[in-house]
Amino acid sequence: MQPQRAFTGSYLEAIDPVTEEVIGRFEITTAGELPRVLEHARRAQRDWAALPVCERAKWLDRLAAVLQARRKEIAEVISRETGKPLAEALLAEVLVSLDSIRWHARQAPRLLAGERVPHHNPLFKGKRGQLVYEPYGVVAVISPWNYPLAIPLGAAVPALVAGNAVVVKPSELTPWCGATLGELFDRAGFPVDLVQVIQGDGELGRGLVEAAPDKVFFTGSLSTGRQVAETCARKLVPSALELGGKDAMIVLADADVDAASSAAVWGSFTNCGQACLSVERIYVEPGALDRFTGLAVEKAKSLRLGSGLDPETEIGPMIRRQQIERVERQLEDAVAHGARILAGGRRRPDRGPLFFDPTVLAGVDSSMLVMREETFGPVMAIQAAADAEDAVRLANESAYGLGASVWTRDRGRGERLAQSLRAGSVMVNDVMTGYGISEAPHGGRGASGWGRAHGRLGLLEAAQVKYVDCDVFPRGRKPWWFPYDGALLGLADAAFDALFAAKWAERLRGAGRLWRHYRSRRR
Ligand code: NDP
Repeated sequence: MQPQRAFTGSYLEAIDPVTEEVIGRFEITTAGELPRVLEHARRAQRDWAALPVCERAKWLDRLAAVLQARRKEIAEVISRETGKPLAEALLAEVLVSLDSIRWHARQAPRLLAGERVPHHNPLFKGKRGQLVYEPYGVVAVISPWNYPLAIPLGAAVPALVAGNAVVVKPSELTPWCGATLGELFDRAGFPVDLVQVIQGDGELGRGLVEAAPDKVFFTGSLSTGRQVAETCARKLVPSALELGGKDAMIVLADADVDAASSAAVWGSFTNCGQACLSVERIYVEPGALDRFTGLAVEKAKSLRLGSGLDPETEIGPMIRRQQIERVERQLEDAVAHGARILAGGRRRPDRGPLFFDPTVLAGVDSSMLVMREETFGPVMAIQAAADAEDAVRLANESAYGLGASVWTRDRGRGERLAQSLRAGSVMVNDVMTGYGISEAPHGGRGASGWGRAHGRLGLLEAAQVKYVDCDVFPRGRKPWWFPYDGALLGLADAAFDALFAAKWAERLRGAGRLWRHYRSRRR
């Protein structure tokens, strides 16, 4: 897929973060075009929603086939525009997406089939209840630049199979990936206007939310998420918000420290630390602290920086200069308050303008910016914790609540500690990988947002539930309808006894009375 070079009017530039050179230009959608975009989406959605789920799932299979066939080309586009290593583009974006598409194609017909709602109350035994899942209509998917394929697809795929039309607004930093995404749906033969990718900056995103689609799936920063939530609240548009994170990793004294330090290095530095689930705070019990820190420093120093297209590269550039400046501000603040830089801590202009060394910080505490604000860069911050309880307390101090991990050889203890952590997901003896498990729900608490992506819960996020109840006795009136009289009070009294009396004998007598009143009131 080549970057589009012919355009009219305004455009977004795709920039290679390795060199900061412009590598493509992409036409933007203006705010004035939004009403037409939504209108066309609504029209396409009507026919789409009328198809059975299993038919919609067949389109997902076609999408998966296109993705499988073009995986290398797509990974290359992602790597060129975000700077991430090709292996990460292939595994964390294309493979994760492909698996999720296939999972939805297989599971959605069953999960969206609706379900019986049995009634326990004898008063309602003559009714048959069921849940029916219906699409919202047109959903907006507003996505960030850091996983420009996996994130928008992670929201669009369940939305589509649930019967919605989708308008995707990718980040202005990754317009080439955005265009590639649109092309995938076109090549898979999706109906015209069912999936529309609109290119533009944050103002276009704001306009899209203001245009009141039927649901907004937003993934991005806390500050933008707050604006989106405010607009959605004003318009009464439902939203799912996947926001930033400040994930904690707890390393207990009995952990496999070698494995834990490798996981910490990968979790802190994958995608150059620019991941919502990045390991940003590490709390280590005294028994493991020195060895863990020593290994982490050694491993961080050995990482290879370079162009993502080089198969040996482990750390690419950061996305833009502002991101580097934010990392530097946090490091300066940490050092000024007593933290020590054990590895990295500086730019690498010898590699390119946006490279920054993987950095290990020790001696941090909760007062420092680096432990409070999302860093979103290649920084690992290690703090000593007195014991496991202290580590949990420190981990739960953050306003964010996206992911966390616990490292221990004692699985039961790990699972118990996982229950005390304030996070949307916790991994025991692994980091971040939950995002790639198609069945696993992904989402946060507190400042990390609300709603879920992925898995059954993510799919149901794209469907609105309707409760349908059918009375199997269509004739006659119900005993609780008008007119009210003494017999109705008798029925109520009998119902209380029949349903809730402390003794079984009273319940039985109540049931007899209830039946008599019930029959007399139905006549
Ligand atoms: P931003 O919040 O800056 O942008 C996210 C998207 O929102 C972009 O498409 C952006 O457009 C758009 N946007 C900007 N302003 C508005 C607005 N007022 N109304 C509607 N849309 C708007 O996030 P980043 O792209 O910088 O992504 C990084 C952030 O995303 C980090 O905080 C990270 O933790 C979080 N994130 C969360 C994930 C999760 O699953 N919880 C996953 C991945 C990232 P434009 O880019 O053109 O400005």
